[in-house]
Amino acid sequence: MTQSLPRLLVIDDEEDICDTVSEIAADYGFDVQTISHSDAVASALDSFRPHAIIMDLMMPGMDGVELLRMLAEASSTAKITLMSGNDSRVLNSARKLGSAHGLDIVGTLEKPIGVKPLRDTLDLMRGTPTASPSISADLTVADALAAGQIVLHYQPIVEISTRTLVGAEALVRWNHPTRGLLSPAVFVEEAEQPGIRDAFNAHIIKTAVTDVAGWHAKGEKLWVSINISAGGLLDLSLPDRIGQLAQEHALPSGSLVIEVTETEAMHDVTRIMDVLVRMRLRGIGLAVDDFGTGYSSLKELHRMPFSRLKIDQSFVTDMAQNSDSALIVKAVIDLGHNLGLKVIAEGIEDAAVWSMLRDRGCDLAQGYYVSRPLAPADFHGWIENWRNGNAL
Ligand code: C2E
Ligand code: MG
Ligand code: MG
Repeated sequence: MTQSLPRLLVIDDEEDICDTVSEIAADYGFDVQTISHSDAVASALDSFRPHAIIMDLMMPGMDGVELLRMLAEASSTAKITLMSGNDSRVLNSARKLGSAHGLDIVGTLEKPIGVKPLRDTLDLMRGTPTASPSISADLTVADALAAGQIVLHYQPIVEISTRTLVGAEALVRWNHPTRGLLSPAVFVEEAEQPGIRDAFNAHIIKTAVTDVAGWHAKGEKLWVSINISAGGLLDLSLPDRIGQLAQEHALPSGSLVIEVTETEAMHDVTRIMDVLVRMRLRGIGLAVDDFGTGYSSLKELHRMPFSRLKIDQSFVTDMAQNSDSALIVKAVIDLGHNLGLKVIAEGIEDAAVWSMLRDRGCDLAQGYYVSRPLAPADFHGWIENWRNGNAL
C-alpha cells in the first residue's frame, strides 16, 4: 500500500525562493505545490488541501494578514510557517495574530532564508497534521471526574538566586482511557461550564491540598499553586471551603496559592474582590497568572489583592533572542517589586533565559529548563535529583 506524501504549499511571489524551498522540501518527502500569485491561493487550498504551508507575509495583491484571515475562515489545520524580509517584530506580531486566529503557526523564517533554519522548519512541519482538539462526545468531563480520570501533575518552582525548590504549580490532566493524557487546552473550557465548574474546582482543590499535605508530612515544606479561572472565583463559599480544607490538613499559612487566570470574567468585580480578600485573610496567596497578555491588566493588578505576579511565558521564552521581550520582562519584574509582589517567570526553557532572569532580579522560576510538569509519583525522585545538582 502506498502512503500519500504530506502536502506542502509554498506561497511566495519570488520564484527563486519557491524553487529553493521546493527542492529542499522534496528531499524531506513533501509533495510540494508553489504559488506566486495571491489569486491562486483559494483554489490551491481547496484542491491541494495542504498539511503544511510556508507563506510570505508580503505578496502583491494580498498581504499575509489577509491570507491568515482567509486560512482561519477556511478552518485550516495546516502547520504554517511565516516568512518575511521585514524586521523580526513584524514576523512576531503576525505569528501571534495567526495563533489568535486559532491557526497552527509552527515558526517564522527571516529572509534571506538560511538552509539550516529552513531544514529545522521542514522537520517541524513534517509531523502529522494536528487533529482537532475537541473531545468527541464519547466521554464528558463529568464522566471523567466520576471515573477518577482528572489528575494533577506538578511543575516545580524554584528560587532563582539560591536554586531552592519552594513550591509547585498544580496542572490538570485528563487521563483518558483511549486517548492518553490530555492537556487542559482540550477540556478546560468544558470544565468551566457552570454546571460542572464547581465540582471540577472542588476536585482540583481537594487533590492539591491532599498532595501538598503529603509533601509536608515527608518534610517538604513547599507551597502549591492552584489555577482557578475568574468564573470559578464567583463562588462565595470558596474561601471558607479552602480555608477549612487547609485546617483539616494542618497546613501552615502560605502553603496554598491561587492563580487567577482569565480575568475576562471579572466583570463582577465586587463579588470577586469579596472572594479574593477573604482568601488573603485566610493566609492563601494570590497570583495574577499570564501577566502581560489577554485580560490581565494594570487595573486588575492595582485593585486586586495579589501577592504574586507571573510573567506570561510568551515574553520569557524568547527573551534571549528578542530584545523587546527582554525589556518587557525587566519592566514587569520592576513593576512587581515596586508593588511589593514576588515575581515568577514561567516558560524558562534554557540556561540563557535563566541567567538573564537572575541578572534582572526575578524571584522565582518555572519552566522546562527546571522541570516539565511531573506526575505525583515522579515528584520526589525529581526533588532528590535536583538537590544532588543533577536535574538541570
Ligand atoms: P498556566 O497556568 O499559565 O500554566 C503554565 C503552562 O505552561 C502549563 O501548560 C505548563 O505545562 C506550561 N509550561 C511550563 N513551562 C513551560 C516551558 O518552559 N515552555 C513551554 N512551552 N510551556 C511551559 P498546561 O499544563 O498545558 O496548562 C495550560 C493552561 O491550562 C494553564 O496555563 C492554565 O491556564 C490552565 N490550567 C491548568 N490546570 C488548570 C486547572 O486545574 N484549572 C483551571 N481552571 N485551569 C487550568
Ligand atoms: Mg497558572
Ligand atoms: Mg501562566
